Parts: sequence; structure tokens; C-alpha cells
Amino acid sequence: MKKVYNFSAGPACLPEPVLEKAQKELVIYKNAGMSVMEMSHRSNDFTKIIESAETNLRKLMNIPDNYKVLFLQGGASSQFSMIPLNLYKNGKADFIITGQWSNKAMAESKKYLDVNVLASSEDESYTYIPSVEDIKVSEDADYVHITLNNTIFGTKYNKLPNCKNIPLVADASSCILSEPIDIEKFGIIYAGAQKNIGPAGLTVVIIRDDLIGNAKPETPTMFNYETHSKANSLYNTPPTYSIYLANLVFEWILGLGGLQKMNEINIEKAKILYDAIDNSSLFKGTVLKKDRSLMNVPFITGSEDLDSKFIEEAKQIGITNIKGYRTIGGMRASIYNAMPIEGVKLLVEFMKKFEEDNK
Ligand code: PMP
Repeated sequence: MKKVYNFSAGPACLPEPVLEKAQKELVIYKNAGMSVMEMSHRSNDFTKIIESAETNLRKLMNIPDNYKVLFLQGGASSQFSMIPLNLYKNGKADFIITGQWSNKAMAESKKYLDVNVLASSEDESYTYIPSVEDIKVSEDADYVHITLNNTIFGTKYNKLPNCKNIPLVADASSCILSEPIDIEKFGIIYAGAQKNIGPAGLTVVIIRDDLIGNAKPETPTMFNYETHSKANSLYNTPPTYSIYLANLVFEWILGLGGLQKMNEINIEKAKILYDAIDNSSLFKGTVLKKDRSLMNVPFITGSEDLDSKFIEEAKQIGITNIKGYRTIGGMRASIYNAMPIEGVKLLVEFMKKFEEDNK
């Protein structure tokens, strides 16, 4: 069967050269005589893999020495609990609410501390990012939490709130590695791997040193950042194969020219799709233009029947997983790093044809 263009929001498409390299090394990895999946996480071969993954991620994201890189499990959703458990001091946290994931993060924090909503875009169904210009974070907040890119609604921050000395904690699950970011503006950046990093099962946490080692005493060992930091992510068995594959993805991005280059490609791809939406009399974007995501592009026809027809016919020509989030409807094209520009061009061509055929 021919490979399709997979526009899924995650688990998402992976770069083809990465999959091909993994295929070559699947049964026997280099001189190990066995698959990466079969080797001890304490073996020399795997030690080299995890060290290389960290080195490459540090290089890609320009991560300063006073930040730790942790390769964890439990998905971004586990971070929703680890953050309050580890950052608890005054028992208060500020949130900016931009959709389902920030709501979920806040609900989990609320189990441990008082939460305060600094701003929310709920009034317009999360179709924009609240202005952060005039936001005043609470002086006694233990952290300020934001979702950098909203996977479901297709919005992203172009400006960060000024948090002064309060740690800014960001869920970067659906935008990590899509563009350069200034790590020093954040206390913690975390992301589930299954969009821009690699296969599901790995969660990357980039955390400033001083935020480690202060967990609430009742924190489960596995939920304490100190546990994983002290053990260099090898306290217990990490998701070894996902780490190996993530490293191949890091090497792939470095080979393309790093995050600056990746960002240029992403801007070009997103422009093709947004231009098609803006020039169409059938398809409409659902998000305020200035807050549009480069990674997740939601659009609608205005008719549920036409949306379903579009999704069905797209599938027949190899454009899959373009259906909007189950509670939202419409379409959503996730165009992460690994989505080739040809996939976006095919989608746009199909949109034009569909519009012609359904006049
Ligand atoms: N945050 C964001 C922004 C997401 O898009 C997702 C998953 N789509 C999650 C959190 C939850 O991630 P996980 O499934 O890794 O727990």
C-alpha cells in the first residue's frame, strides 16, 4: 500500500528518513548484535544513545547548562500533576486558559493548590490568545502555566507574559522543535513526544536547576523531578526505543539546519494552507489570524455534511486524519515538522477541486 499523508494531531507522522534509518537498524543495532528494544537501559550502547539524545536536544534548543533535560514517561498529562507537586511553595499558581489542555493542567494543579485564572479565551471558544501585555502575575504565585500551542483550537502564543521572577511553565507538546525558543524565559518546558519529537511513550522535560529538589514530602518517588534528575533519567527503565527514535529525529533536524531552518520550512508550509483558506469562498479558518498556529490548522465549510464529505473524499486520495477534534468537528490539518510540503500542496489542490465540485 502507498504511504498516505497523515495529518493526525498525534501520534503524528515521523520523518521518512528517520523511519528508514530505524528500519535498517531495527533487528541489529550497529555492533550490538541485537535490537535497541532488546538491550539493557544500562548497557554501553544504550548509554551512548541517551547521552547523544541529550547532547543533540541541547544543541538544537540551545539549552543552557543550568537546565536539566529529563526523558520521562507518563505523557504531558503526568506533568499536569508533577508540576504542582514539585513547585509547591506558597500554594498558589496562575493560569492562562486557552483551551482544553490548559484546563486539564489547571484541574490537576487545583488538587494541590489554589489556582488563579489570569486570562482566558473561553468567551470566544478559544479562538484567540488573550493579550498578555497588561497581565499582572500574582506576586506569591509558585508558577504561571501556559499552553504554548493549542493543538485542538490551533492557536499559539507570539508573545509571552512577563512573569518577572515567577517561573513560567509551558506545555509545548504540539510546538516543541517547530521554531527556536528562548529557554531562559521559562522555568519548565514540557512536551509529550508523539507530535514533533518521536513515538508516544516519551515525555521531555526541560527544567531549571533551582526548581528541582523542593517536592512536597508526599510526592511519589516517580513524580519527583529530583529522582530523575539525580539518575540522569535512568532511575528506572526509561522508554528506550522512543528515546532512540527521538534522537534520530533530533539528528534529522540538525541535518536540515536546526530550528531556525525548521521554522522557515514550517512558515512556508503553513502559509500555503492559510492562503488557500483565506482565498477560498467555501473554507473558513476558525482562529484569529494573528494567533494562528503553525502546527495545527483548523478550518470549516460551515456545513457538517460538506465537512464529512470533504474528510471522506480526502481519505480516498491519501489525505488522512484531517477530521477536527471529536468535540469540535470541522477539519484540522496538523502539519508538524515531519509533514512534507508535498502533503500540504496535495491538500490545498484537493481543497480547490472540492470547492469547484461543490459550488
Ligand atoms: N498538552 C497538549 C497541548 C496536547 O496536545 C496533548 C495531547 N494531544 C496533551 C497535553 C496530552 O498529552 P499526553 O497524551 O502525552 O498526556
